[in-house]
Amino acid sequence: MHAPGEGLDDPQDRKAETKIYRHSQVETTRDVLDCGGKVRHYEEVHQVPHQHRRQGVGEVLHTLILDTNRGLKVAQNRDGKPVMVSPANIARVLEPSTSVQYVKGIGPRLAEVLSAKGIHTVDDLVHYLPFRYEDRLNPRGIAELRPGEMATVIAEVRNSGLFRTRRMPIFQMVAGQGRTKLKCLWFNGAYLRDKFKPGQMVALYGKVEQDRGGELQLHQPQFEILGDANEEGPGDTAEKKLESSLEVGRIVPIYESAGQGRLTARWFRRVIRTALEALPPQLQDPVPATVREHLSLIPPREALWRVHWPEAGESFADLQNAHTPAHLRLIFEELFFVELGLELKRREQKARTGVAFQLNEGVRQAIKKILPFHPTEAQKRVLKEIASDMEKASPMRRLLQGDVGSGKTIVAFEAAIIAIENGYQVALMAPTEILAQQHYFSARRILEPAGYRVVLLTGSLEDDRKRDIRRHLAQGNAQLVIGTHALLEQKVEFARLGLVIVDEQHRFGVMQRFKLMKKDRVETGQSPASTQAHVEPDVLVMTATPIPRTLALTLYGDLDVSVINELPPGRTPIVTRRISDDRSGEVWKFLCKQVEAGHRAYVVYPVIEENEETELKAALKMYKELSNKVFPHLKVGLLHGRLEPDLKDLVMRMFQKGELHILVATTVIEVGVDVANATVMVIEHAERFGLAQLHQLRGRIGRGPAKSYCVLMTGGKVSEDGERRLDAMVRTSDGFQIAELDLELRGPGEFFGTRQAGVPSFQVANLVRDRQLLEAARREAAVVLAGPNAEISQEEIDRALHHMRARWQKTYGLVEVG
Ligand code: ADP
Ligand code: MG
Repeated sequence: MHAPGEGLDDPQDRKAETKIYRHSQVETTRDVLDCGGKVRHYEEVHQVPHQHRRQGVGEVLHTLILDTNRGLKVAQNRDGKPVMVSPANIARVLEPSTSVQYVKGIGPRLAEVLSAKGIHTVDDLVHYLPFRYEDRLNPRGIAELRPGEMATVIAEVRNSGLFRTRRMPIFQMVAGQGRTKLKCLWFNGAYLRDKFKPGQMVALYGKVEQDRGGELQLHQPQFEILGDANEEGPGDTAEKKLESSLEVGRIVPIYESAGQGRLTARWFRRVIRTALEALPPQLQDPVPATVREHLSLIPPREALWRVHWPEAGESFADLQNAHTPAHLRLIFEELFFVELGLELKRREQKARTGVAFQLNEGVRQAIKKILPFHPTEAQKRVLKEIASDMEKASPMRRLLQGDVGSGKTIVAFEAAIIAIENGYQVALMAPTEILAQQHYFSARRILEPAGYRVVLLTGSLEDDRKRDIRRHLAQGNAQLVIGTHALLEQKVEFARLGLVIVDEQHRFGVMQRFKLMKKDRVETGQSPASTQAHVEPDVLVMTATPIPRTLALTLYGDLDVSVINELPPGRTPIVTRRISDDRSGEVWKFLCKQVEAGHRAYVVYPVIEENEETELKAALKMYKELSNKVFPHLKVGLLHGRLEPDLKDLVMRMFQKGELHILVATTVIEVGVDVANATVMVIEHAERFGLAQLHQLRGRIGRGPAKSYCVLMTGGKVSEDGERRLDAMVRTSDGFQIAELDLELRGPGEFFGTRQAGVPSFQVANLVRDRQLLEAARREAAVVLAGPNAEISQEEIDRALHHMRARWQKTYGLVEVG
């Protein structure tokens, strides 16, 4: 165990610290090699005399860092002559791209620990920002301490010792200021045994506790020994130490520890400070000047310094809220390069060749003919947006957002007709077989009477059937294919694929989206009947999960967005109630009444089978109980993910046809299932579900004219977040509001309940907190790519793009840009 509050030196790493030989000892590189050293690392460094370091005086040298155990290091000047410099005079200037292992105090072993945190380079390290700050600027007098507060105390060590209790050894140190004394305790503190000597000055930081007798103490304080009070000129030494101290007498940055606590905040303070000092005095600013001006950005190096080591006078509140000029600079920069990448991608997509579909009167009539109802204003608007994309020669990349039940399907069919009437084929993909089938049935109902040929291609089809369908697609007989991932995974060739529609996009994940787009490109090209090898199909992705704007700007930033913000007419708002499950009797009675009135109901459980640890009610068991005991006179069905696909289909179909009154299920019914006369959704253990999930589930009801009810039953303890989720569900049915809260509660990585591949993991930005900066970054990215012009030179644009590519490659590796 390593001492908390103490820095950690890796013995191996300490050895790795390079010693510098005096000039006279080495004449040429050969000499050094002859000493027996092995070349470990070769790099260009800047030599900066220590005293000038801050002013930025430097000379470029070439350095060989030799086998570390031999402790050799030699610098060469530009002519290749070795130049030896005394340690005091050389400051190794690290390039941002240098591996962290060359930072003093790190080394190969600790570098590995850091890499688990995503810290690989010096640049990563200096962007490892404090997650909070401690105000240790004004140390406190012991007499003024109050229980419960966090305080910094600078005092003199009086005595210390280890005593053992039955539970653990406790280390006690008494520090004093004049006559007042303060007891400090460290539990399991054996490691501190020889740490303190009477008379030393120490800085202590921790929470003030009160023991049973009312005496004030510090428990587990962080500390730093500042100097020995008995030394010659005691005040002087202590003061100097204090001045240079990174621990007290200032606003101190607190970092998240790493390596299971081995690399402490204190350790990070030291190495980050070292790395900052070793950065080149002038970091080139990759952000173009005009953008810097628009946002009053401070220079990058200054921002890095000030974010780690705030100047006296910096607002403490701004620091805590990541709102200082330094924070804004770093956050904006990160967001800017993400948005620049996305903007570039949008532009490049626009520059590619797609199909310019005709939207003539014939096509309009064809669309009118299939409409089973009057579209809402919102549906009309988004169709216009989609149609106008489709008319353009560049391939459409559009995201259609619309809350559950808002009527996206018909819009998708309308878009399909535009493509088909132009002689192209359309692929519609759904995330599950059930949904694919549902789309297939409605497509046949709506499109086949008008003479369109629709096929279904899913994984569970017989091989012969699949082969048949693939042949129809390759020959162009089938105009609309509806399927699941099977469309992605199998070798499907199209005669003339013009439009790809992806429903409930978030289920596919982002990477699949990219795969899909790529596939079309390839397949279209390979298709024997195709004469347009380089033409890309239009892509329309649809999602019922409202995506908060911040995510839309990042995760989907390369897409244009359309929103259906209106429900079809005749819907009555869903009544949502929260109730504890000890009142389930009332709920079941209500459910009976609804069924007697001709309606249908869902009862949803968080798990299929119970298990001892969670004690959650489970679908299997409750199905038995509900069907045998509670509703013996009703038809109850069971649906969960482990059923055979055939059985799943059968159950779904029976429920859809009204042959089952109640469907007991897990979240498999979450997405897209459409049973218009289902009016009750009972969710047991509602406290266990995520917000997005609850919202999706509730979207299964209220799809017809009858009033619908969502009952959120809680069983057991509800966490604080759980309370907020349930509250939100009762309060609003606005999907966007719910999505924003979900994002806030779970963070972008976990949004939608599953980890989203492709959500950029930001170093310093926070999508919830920094939304305004994100909007600004998007605007500025567009400004930059609109250049060159009077405001911005080609050179600046190139530099920004170069920087963006390097970053993008590193952070999002798989995603291609440009
Ligand atoms: P989602 O956006 O969740 O996919 P759907 O497309 O499944 O929604 O539509 C939900 C229900 O609303 C369907 O039964 C559909 O037929 C119906 N619907 C859609 N648009 C309209 C409209 N303009 N007028 C009446 N009913 C509509
Ligand atoms: Mg749908």
